[in-house]
Amino acid sequence: MNLISMFDESASRWPAKTLLHYGDQTFSYAGIQALSLRAAQVLREHGVGQGDRVALMCFNTPYFLVAVLGALRLGAVIVPVNHKLQKPEVEFVLRHSGARLCIFDGALSELASRLETPALLLSTGESPRKQDAAFDHFDTQVERTEPGEMPPLVADDALAQVLYTSGTTGQPKGCLHSHRNVFTTALICSAALSMTHNDRMLIAMPIWHAAPLNNWSFGTLLMGGTLVFLREYTPRGFLESISKYGITLTFGAPIALLAPLELADFESHDLSAMRLWIYGGGPLGEEMARRLMERYRSTQFMQVYGMTEMGPLGTALFPEDALRKAGSIGRSSLPGVQVRVVAGDGGDTPAGRIGEIQLRSEAGMLGYLGDPQATAAAYTADGWYRSGDLARVDEDGYYYVVDRLKDLITTGGENVYSKEVEDALSPHPDVADVAVIGRAHPQWGETVVAVVVARPGRQPDPDALKAFLADKLARYKIPRDYVFVDTLPRTPSGKLQKHLLRTSVAGTPAGLPLSN
Ligand code: ATP
Repeated sequence: MNLISMFDESASRWPAKTLLHYGDQTFSYAGIQALSLRAAQVLREHGVGQGDRVALMCFNTPYFLVAVLGALRLGAVIVPVNHKLQKPEVEFVLRHSGARLCIFDGALSELASRLETPALLLSTGESPRKQDAAFDHFDTQVERTEPGEMPPLVADDALAQVLYTSGTTGQPKGCLHSHRNVFTTALICSAALSMTHNDRMLIAMPIWHAAPLNNWSFGTLLMGGTLVFLREYTPRGFLESISKYGITLTFGAPIALLAPLELADFESHDLSAMRLWIYGGGPLGEEMARRLMERYRSTQFMQVYGMTEMGPLGTALFPEDALRKAGSIGRSSLPGVQVRVVAGDGGDTPAGRIGEIQLRSEAGMLGYLGDPQATAAAYTADGWYRSGDLARVDEDGYYYVVDRLKDLITTGGENVYSKEVEDALSPHPDVADVAVIGRAHPQWGETVVAVVVARPGRQPDPDALKAFLADKLARYKIPRDYVFVDTLPRTPSGKLQKHLLRTSVAGTPAGLPLSN
């Protein structure tokens, strides 16, 4: 279950097969394997050894993969870092993870030059900036270095990754994953997707994120499939890559699949090779899920639900249920992953009731780095991981995420699930994006506030929005206040960061626009 023995096996089965397309560059399995051996040697020459942490702050590029495989070959631990972070946030991750070395994309050289951790740069192919001269270039060194004698591979239970959570609810947490955990995640995903070596998987979401890396990239490597890396997601780049490379599988946050629908020439792209559109990482309501299938003219959609702590794995809604159970995250259906929805500390929640989703799986993390208290608090006494997500269960055992515990709004003693209100408001023709949060209120505890991004050229009227909701939601759920903004704070993978909104909107008087 060592990730390198897994990769080497695929490379020995499919040496000449294309492992990776990136723009006009093509890399075979044998080619990436050879580069990874050289990369291991380069890292060793920079002092990296077994157990050392190597941080990677990169876009979706071939040398990210080469660096990952090179580091794992040495028994080092990879620490993928969000490339949108600012200096103090990067410093937090580097310090917290104890990174010995950092590999940066060349586009981030200015940031790298202000950090203390030794760094290697990846060339971008663009003209070098002045800071670049201060760095060794990882890719150039890899190309010039002869591979050396490699140490024996580490045990299956050795640490492979420190993966930071998205920071949707606050400071990101470092999840520790062993080779066995990641291998299990890749195995479960490739089985659930019936993946074969003929599949071509587009990685359009940031690769430092758990799902693009573990579920979809390692899953593809395990099966001998082909990866296509899009350096950075754009709606157009997404569709063009699917057409150009005859993509069969891809994964996106809901917003990444919805955004291309806004392109005037959406219909003109050839999406015919696609056999499965996978989406997840954040909620998508029933109406928007149906719209997605209608516009893509396909029901071959699979919704996945999970979290960094669990691989990330959790549940899946398979295509045969995509329409019938639109809006659901599916049920306990992934091999090797147990799921239950629990009200209080009791057993499974009966149909119609709401409780917390809890999970158990071999893919689950070893714990949070340096935080035994948070690790202990994340599990029940009998070893189930508490997701902090609330779900309703239907009569067939399908789960519907209604909110995160932290996002639940309590107004006048009533619970309001912010997602339900967002789902009701987002189909309004004037609304491009919406987040619903609670604002402290002396009498009611909280009031419901909708933070709305208007569609270009539209100016939604709060009274019209309230009227739109009147026959959809009980009165106490209808937002009293509407705040209009240009954009909502999202993580690079498209997740709403409501904790940031709560801070910025909490002090904003009702109805006062945050944008002009
Ligand atoms: P942090 O723990 O730092 O706040 P995070 O929980 O967003 O960040 P991730 O591990 O990236 O970090 O995200 C997991 C969470 O994303 C889940 O707990 C759930 O709230 C949400 N999520 C994932 N998939 C889905 C889905 N299909 N539908 C609804 N929510 C989802």
